Amino acid sequence: MNVRNFLSKAEEAKIVQTIKEGELKTSGEIRVHLENHCPTETLQHARTVFGEMGMHETEEHTGVLLYIAVQDHKIAIVGDEGINAKVPPDFWECIIEQLTTDFKAEKYCEGICTTLTTVAEELSFHFPYKEDDIDELPNDISFGE
Ligand code: CA
Ligand code: CA
Repeated sequence: MNVRNFLSKAEEAKIVQTIKEGELKTSGEIRVHLENHCPTETLQHARTVFGEMGMHETEEHTGVLLYIAVQDHKIAIVGDEGINAKVPPDFWECIIEQLTTDFKAEKYCEGICTTLTTVAEELSFHFPYKEDDIDELPNDISFGE
């Protein structure tokens, strides 16, 4: 299993669709990044990737990155400061716990989509969708090495 065959094309399309639908509920911006290996501590590295992808540049600091190192079986989720100021302190932990359970059951696409939907739902309470919403960050999956 590597970053290119971790998900089928149909599953990738489903994930992009889930991001699109999620972003119709909230002004927040959600992205997914897949790579094979995580070189350092997972959350710390996910934060670095978040920065490299320019995800801190959203207007209200509402970027969320789901990071997955496919071959290392590592996952992390990073929210920008606008979100972290609003969500419950254990919000990200709960999400990772659920996703870990899904991954252990080899429910990869399903687990990712559930995560994205849960995040969009929570974001919608604090940062509702606005009529003049701009898609500030692309909805496609980002691939690393
Ligand atoms: Ca938006
Ligand atoms: Ca977007």
